[in-house]
Amino acid sequence: MPPAYPHHGPRGGYQNPWPEAQPRGFKDFLRWQLVERRAGTVAQSPPLDSLPTREPVIISPRAERGYRSVTWIGHSTVLLQLGALNVLTDPIWSERASPLRTLGPRRLMAPGVAFDRLPSIDLVLLSHNHYDHLDATTVQRIAARFPNATWLCPMDLGKPLRKLGVSQPVERDWWQSVDGGGVSATCTPAQHFSGRGLRDRNRTLWCGWTIAADDVRVYFAGDTALHPEFGAIAARLGPFDLIMLPIGAYEPRWFMRSVHMNPEDAIEAYRALASRTTISRCLALHWGTFRLTDEAIEEPPIRFAQRWREAGLPESANWILAHGETRPF
Ligand code: ZN
Ligand code: ZN
Repeated sequence: MPPAYPHHGPRGGYQNPWPEAQPRGFKDFLRWQLVERRAGTVAQSPPLDSLPTREPVIISPRAERGYRSVTWIGHSTVLLQLGALNVLTDPIWSERASPLRTLGPRRLMAPGVAFDRLPSIDLVLLSHNHYDHLDATTVQRIAARFPNATWLCPMDLGKPLRKLGVSQPVERDWWQSVDGGGVSATCTPAQHFSGRGLRDRNRTLWCGWTIAADDVRVYFAGDTALHPEFGAIAARLGPFDLIMLPIGAYEPRWFMRSVHMNPEDAIEAYRALASRTTISRCLALHWGTFRLTDEAIEEPPIRFAQRWREAGLPESANWILAHGETRPF
């Protein structure tokens, strides 16, 4: 389905191109934070480091052709080993997803892979500039340790990345690709927003990524609400062997619906994305690591698994991993 209107704003910046897809404004943010939250709608957080963890299985410095695995490091950070190619998504190793060292969402779980245990990183995929996806300290650490890594980002994120030490970030607009060395990555539409301060709302683009390498295809959705283009993404860039979808940070719905999927939305997105010819495993991301919203930290994967079962989807394709867990595919 073609977009209802362009995702490039009339005065620069970006917008979601679908009707009724605009995020709530600052007034509504205050109503949620100052009025609703006072009424005690926020679920208790579990004790620190109390969710299950696993020892990661990582081939260093790189794997052989035909070896493919995914390791959940936490939140939207995963390590993909696609043959000899090592890919990171939205990397964050810091203690807080925040511009401040002592304030802002704090980690509930340590990163599932210690930074020093990372294999040689070739490619970093960034979805947008929110603090839980673009962490300045982590970007600097990766750029220093893996200076030859290629960084793919949505439009207008290149300049801030360069300031953080990334030598040649590659910007792409929705549906634009990067090809080379047997790898093809494409920037895909997402319904979300961007901003790190008070004055930069929607000045940089947000997106998901698909990557085809070593004869497999993977989709990473970034942060997104349910939108009408998941079917088009699968038709143009699938079939996907692995689909990585955000399932957390969704309550209260009246505020979050336009920017984040809940488990029910994620099931609908999966159905639009899943292949009828290959097994499309679904890896659930964006939960269990930082408290960003009001639902209980453990709720998203439980609710997702229930809906998955009710929908009659194959049990073996629902991949909810523990922090640090590696699955070959
Ligand atoms: Zn975001
Ligand atoms: Zn996020």
